[in-house]
Amino acid sequence: MRSTNPGWVPDSPLRRQLTPEWLAFFRTFPKAETHCHLLGTIAESTFRDLVRESGASVSDEEISAFYTRGEKPVGVLKIFRTLESQVLREPEMLRRIALEHLERAASLGVRWIEFSWNWTGLSRWMSYADGARAIQSALLEAPERFGISGCLIPAIDREASPEDACRLVEEVLSMKDRPLVPGIGIDYRETGHEPENFWKAFRLASEGGLKITIHAGEFGEHWRNVETAVDLLGACRIDHGYTIVDNPELVERARRLALPFAVVPTNSYYLRTLEPERWALDHPIRRMRDLGLSVYPNSDDPTMHRVSIDESWRIPFEFFGFSLEDTRRMLAASIEASWADASDARRWRVEWLEEFDRLAAGLPALPSD
Ligand SMILES: [Zn+2]
Repeated sequence: MRSTNPGWVPDSPLRRQLTPEWLAFFRTFPKAETHCHLLGTIAESTFRDLVRESGASVSDEEISAFYTRGEKPVGVLKIFRTLESQVLREPEMLRRIALEHLERAASLGVRWIEFSWNWTGLSRWMSYADGARAIQSALLEAPERFGISGCLIPAIDREASPEDACRLVEEVLSMKDRPLVPGIGIDYRETGHEPENFWKAFRLASEGGLKITIHAGEFGEHWRNVETAVDLLGACRIDHGYTIVDNPELVERARRLALPFAVVPTNSYYLRTLEPERWALDHPIRRMRDLGLSVYPNSDDPTMHRVSIDESWRIPFEFFGFSLEDTRRMLAASIEASWADASDARRWRVEWLEEFDRLAAGLPALPSD
């Protein structure tokens, strides 16, 4: 494991040594983040504050362990369950978390962000509408305060029942003022919780005019989940989707559809299962690019995975051997994949890429190139 930032990913034979100008470039060019779980953005100090405020019985040592990566990290999903069951009792807490991350993301060049948020586990503490309004109010303040805009993606908790999922969608659709909720997602543990179990909730969502993004093909789960997400459930975007590389026919279809894959270079499954010396070489994101799929990097759970958004953009370039042109293509893909208004996305497609080109033109040559 390396000691430099991002400190805990294995080294790579493809590694480029980036100069400070290049690091600044990755922090600066305008970018979109569409795969980010609100609860995975909590700063450690905020976590401690919220535990104090709620009076939850979570010790300082437990919180420290939540934020420790390395040999045996506490799974992020377990941390989320602690937050839902004991800590996040007030909608105002969600607003604080969202505001803090909006400010952090904006400082790293993010101009558009989509927060995934599960209400089902919090339903004992707050109504869907109160929770959603708290996050929306942060999103509404953000353009003026931080120069970033975004939306909310209420996500089905796939460890809960299909009926809970339907209830979530009904709650989403019953809110009249939901301009910042263009669609729904689904997350938590994919293993043993196949997407088709939630067909009724997804059908309700589609009929109600909501877009659909689905976590599929993560944790080494079968490509069938990606196929189900697209063909049966109407997903227009896939979160992760790595195992699609095992099915050439499905790859070809996804390529023709220009189906976007919001991938995560620091995905914990591949850090755990690939040999450190093969991690960068065998990472499915490289294969996905080689196969012509529309991929773009995201941070997923940035504070808990100890990765910042600029690092998630840097890793393909710095460790996986992606070119600057690949990075530019991924930037265009992220804009295309975003659920922003079509007119905004069209404008960004021109303005952000121009800014990317202008910043790239000022970069010094890399020693290794
Ligand atoms: Zn995710």
